[in-house]
Amino acid sequence: MAAVMQQMSRLGPLARAGLRALSSAPSAATAAKPNGASFGFEFSDEQKEYQALARKFAREEIIPKAPEYDKSGEYPVDIIKKAWELGLMNTHIPHSCGGLGLGIMDACIVTEELAYGCTGVQTAIEANSLGQMPVIIAGNEAQQKKYLGRMIDEPLMCAYCVTEPGAGSDVAGIKTRAVKKGNEYVLNGQKMWITNGGHANWYFVLARTDPDPKAPAGKAFTGFIVDRDTPGVVPGRKEWNMGQRASDTRGITFEDVVVPAENVLGQEGIGFKIAMGAFDKTRPPVAAGAVGLAQRALDEATRYSMERKTMGKFICEHQAVSFILAEMAIGVESSRLAMYRSAWEIDQGRRNTYFASIAKALAGDVANKCATDAVQIFGGNGFNSDYPVEKLMRDAKIYQIYEGTAQIQRLIIAREHLTKAKQTM
Ligand SMILES: Cc1cc2nc3c(=O)[nH]c(=O)nc-3n(C[C@H](O)[C@H](O)[C@H](O)COP(=O)(O)OP(=O)(O)OC[C@H]3O[C@@H](n4cnc5c(N)ncnc54)[C@H](O)[C@@H]3O)c2cc1C
Repeated sequence: MAAVMQQMSRLGPLARAGLRALSSAPSAATAAKPNGASFGFEFSDEQKEYQALARKFAREEIIPKAPEYDKSGEYPVDIIKKAWELGLMNTHIPHSCGGLGLGIMDACIVTEELAYGCTGVQTAIEANSLGQMPVIIAGNEAQQKKYLGRMIDEPLMCAYCVTEPGAGSDVAGIKTRAVKKGNEYVLNGQKMWITNGGHANWYFVLARTDPDPKAPAGKAFTGFIVDRDTPGVVPGRKEWNMGQRASDTRGITFEDVVVPAENVLGQEGIGFKIAMGAFDKTRPPVAAGAVGLAQRALDEATRYSMERKTMGKFICEHQAVSFILAEMAIGVESSRLAMYRSAWEIDQGRRNTYFASIAKALAGDVANKCATDAVQIFGGNGFNSDYPVEKLMRDAKIYQIYEGTAQIQRLIIAREHLTKAKQTM
């Protein structure tokens, strides 16, 4: 509790109020409804407060600076520091490490608002949660205190290093090796497309520990925490991507990197499970990011359609345009509901793999459709970078690629669906 109070004192007034509200149990979201209903769409008071704080932050701190960061590709250190001060990042770090210990739904509410401002900034912030999640789900007390605790004390970044040049969707195909020597492991390999790669203080790294190529994925890999300043850790150049350019994406080489055995997460051989298990908790916020972008596209397109006139009418008065807006609204509302469902399931302590993949797949597709439709509604102006929607279209694409492509989500959904069907039909 003392650590929480210490963290509170660093946060702004709104965040402090949110924390105070958080300590009053049970939350309105989980308490029994007066009429006994067990289902509701109302946020708790503290969730409303987090949403308001994140919304204000996006409007005042992110939106005005986003076009510049998009052009320069510079890492938004000033925005990240302010987000950290307000408690808008690292929201999952447990109370035992001085963190807010918020749920996935809480994180999704914050993430949607930040993404509305700029998904490049939001991805840099969200990648911290991705890097932290294996430590939260599998780290021992000492590892959590050491690596999560320091992120409460300072605005540090971390990263999740799984993908390699030769293996993204095919995680079991990664080649990075870790060889045990006494009480240490020596890591060699190459990771690719690592968000926060050049700014991380430490990395979660998945490496093969069983040299037998026939060893099952569930036993062949181990998860490590690797300090950035360990000799042999070499981040590559910042990649110049289609969109989300404020986010930092790099390859990282691990060359004879010596990691103490105490930095193994869980135990040797269970790294694949840990790395994949993290997605149940991080895919709902990724979906929330896509929803935030889709909502922004809808708002920009709506505003423009109410100002632009053709043939003597505002373009929103042409039925063809208003129907595009209606389709966008259908997408935004339905993907938001899918995202809430996936977050709610895991917050209830239930396995949400099916819902997380549905939310991520739907929200990723909707974000792309909405961004393209917004460009259409802007006409020629939509194609020009002086207007906000071409950036949305570039930024949206990655939601169908990272944290499992659109095809991989469908693979997971089909597998989950058919497993259930075989049990019940
Ligand atoms: C900007 C950015 C940030 C990223 N951040 C991170 C990060 O922080 N950490 C990290 O570890 N990784 C990160 N990634 C990697 C990302 O998760 C992978 O790019 C993604 O999983 C796809 O892998 P791949 O690029 O190797 O494509 P591939 O796996 O080669 O896929 C190519 C195409 O084939 C399809 N495909 C592949 N296998 C199948 C199949 N079995 N069935 C049907 N279709 C299939 C895919 O859907 C895709 O369309 C990031 C990537 C980018 C671009």
